[in-house]
Amino acid sequence: MPPLARTAAAIAAAACMLSAVTGFVVPSAGSCGPSADVAKTRRILGTAPSRTTVAQQHHHSIVMAAAPVVKRVAIVGAGVGGLTLANALCTGSTAVDEVKVFEKFDSVKPGIGGGVQINSGAVILARLGLGDAVKAGGNQVERILSRTVGGRVTLDLDVKKMVQSNPKRRSVMVDNGTPMLFTIMRDRLMQILAGGLPSGVVSTSREVTSVEESPSGAKLRFADGSTEGPFDLVVGADGIKGAARKAVRAGPGGGSGGDNDDAIYSGIRVQYGVAPAGQRPEGSERELHQWFGGDTYGLSATYQGIGDKKFEMVAALYQDRDRKEENAVWDQVEAKGACLRRLDERRFPREMRALAEASDRFYELGVYYRNPLEGWVSRGEGQVVLLGDAAHAMPPNLGQGANQAIQDAYCLARRLADLNSGAAFEGSLIAALRDYERARKPDTSLVLAKSAFVGAVETLGGAAGGGALGEAFRDNFFFGMWKAGVAEQIFMDGAMPKV
Ligand SMILES: Cc1cc2nc3c(=O)[nH]c(=O)nc-3n(C[C@H](O)[C@H](O)[C@H](O)COP(=O)(O)OP(=O)(O)OC[C@H]3O[C@@H](n4cnc5c(N)ncnc54)[C@H](O)[C@@H]3O)c2cc1C
Repeated sequence: MPPLARTAAAIAAAACMLSAVTGFVVPSAGSCGPSADVAKTRRILGTAPSRTTVAQQHHHSIVMAAAPVVKRVAIVGAGVGGLTLANALCTGSTAVDEVKVFEKFDSVKPGIGGGVQINSGAVILARLGLGDAVKAGGNQVERILSRTVGGRVTLDLDVKKMVQSNPKRRSVMVDNGTPMLFTIMRDRLMQILAGGLPSGVVSTSREVTSVEESPSGAKLRFADGSTEGPFDLVVGADGIKGAARKAVRAGPGGGSGGDNDDAIYSGIRVQYGVAPAGQRPEGSERELHQWFGGDTYGLSATYQGIGDKKFEMVAALYQDRDRKEENAVWDQVEAKGACLRRLDERRFPREMRALAEASDRFYELGVYYRNPLEGWVSRGEGQVVLLGDAAHAMPPNLGQGANQAIQDAYCLARRLADLNSGAAFEGSLIAALRDYERARKPDTSLVLAKSAFVGAVETLGGAAGGGALGEAFRDNFFFGMWKAGVAEQIFMDGAMPKV
């Protein structure tokens, strides 16, 4: 199939997908029992909107006394999703006694050392009592501006106005007068998420190799041969190549669950670098700048890091169907040189070039995603469930992976609270887990489809994407989407929490 036809087919497929889916107890080290924050967070979780049925909501207000079904929870992976879940379980009223997070690295650190934009996730973190920390730790975004390297404006979104002018958005997105939309370095976000947890909840240098289910509970096996458990529930928050997913796929009676290298390559690669602040045009700190040149989509943005230090990130995305490496053996100099050549050849503006030149950390990786339609709950004993990238890793083009992982965590914690209080699910853990999956899968699938679609269009042009015709289509497409209000709708749809 010629490149443009292939890209058009991908767009058509993505468009089809788009139209088809239009509280707790804390204290001793390592465990969760009553804490000073409990009353506050109980209130937060008790009043937040959910997609439970009317009958369940009615039950929720009665809150029947019942023996908790889920007392011990193991979370595999101290990433954005795993740490959010630990916060929800340790500071709320889910009646979960013990929460343990196992992380393979020797510290809680970001897997990919750049920055993320958080919006719907920031709203959820505010519900969990972390709003002030996020506001103080992040850089607030007020505008998204897209231009071609020739200077044509193809999109200009005044985010603050979009949020403030619509009462529905305002009521959800604004926390004490501040629109919840931030760019934040990953290490700062991890610091915020890990900082509020009781000591001993997170164990590092514990790489999980398998999860074994049995009628008495699920056990974890580690790379050093040790085991932990049994747990009433194991949550796989271990990212796109996590180990917990194997247990979910294995089916009744166990089995290997197949290999874990079946993530789908999007055909898109991303080069990105991080520099100390100072390269971007003055006054653009609160603006995301998108640039289109030839076959390349570029992004420049400011992020806030640890100690309130500001950083700037440059990213270049392009199509390459043949080079699939997710994590090349980094030669930072080569990755940086390749990015600079790309920006020069396509005449990207000084803002992008200077930023790439000044970057002292550089990365290049292939963009992968997971088929979101695979099951998230183990088909064996139903004691293992997935969230975040482990369930639905998505292309980064809409900046939604971490936001969706945070929403998954909150949604799952609410289902466990309803189960343990007897408000819903009649004591059935598997019913609670399936309800969580039912609530989250349509939304995450839709965001994934939109993100893949936007990524395919953003990287049109060049030999792989229809040449000049592809470029012209892309520029007019985004201009049309902006003028018709569709771009605003897509952005706000990701920015508003669905849980
Ligand atoms: C270039 C790029 C830019 C992005 N930008 C944004 C953005 O702007 N906004 C946004 O919302 N999202 C963004 N994302 C997506 C976002 O980073 C992910 O979706 C998010 O980190 C997923 O969180 P998670 O907790 O599911 O997984 P992860 O953050 O991957 O965390 C998984 C954790 O599990 C640990 N682990 C893995 N295996 C094991 C094991 N066997 N045993 C124990 N521990 C294990 C890992 O070390 C890690 O700490 C971007 C992604 C990329 C690649």
